Amino acid sequence: MTFEMGPETRQVEAMWDVSTYNYRMDGTGIRLLTEGMKEKKLRGIRCGECGMVYMPGPSYCRKCFVDIDEVVEVKDTGTVMSYCVTMADVRGNPIEEFRISAMIQFDGADTWFVGTVTGVEWQDFKVGMRVKAVWVDEPAGSLSDIDRFEVITD
Ligand SMILES: [Zn+2]
Repeated sequence: MTFEMGPETRQVEAMWDVSTYNYRMDGTGIRLLTEGMKEKKLRGIRCGECGMVYMPGPSYCRKCFVDIDEVVEVKDTGTVMSYCVTMADVRGNPIEEFRISAMIQFDGADTWFVGTVTGVEWQDFKVGMRVKAVWVDEPAGSLSDIDRFEVITD
């Protein structure tokens, strides 16, 4: 495989003071998701107003601005919505094996989840393909319990 280097990128050093910002992180949806992942189950939160299923679920619907807490099961199969093939590291050096990172919409969810897809040549990979999560042998309740995704035909 040949790999052409693009134009050199420019680096700019700068300081950005973020100490005046306040963040409030809501961990409910991510806790719900990772707790379920211990049993290889995916759980999202559904909005009662519009029916949107988020995974991980926020505490309010991003569209309707109403509080949401209805837990729904999401399947570990899904559809590829978008993807990117990595051929080089961040410095532009070619890597030994290409990597496919895909945005996947799980069956039963409306949001997308990012994961690595293996077992397929990048030239054959397409948006719309069906994939299934490959779980680690002993899930520990973290997002890395899904090791990768593999293409399925269903
Ligand atoms: Zn809604």
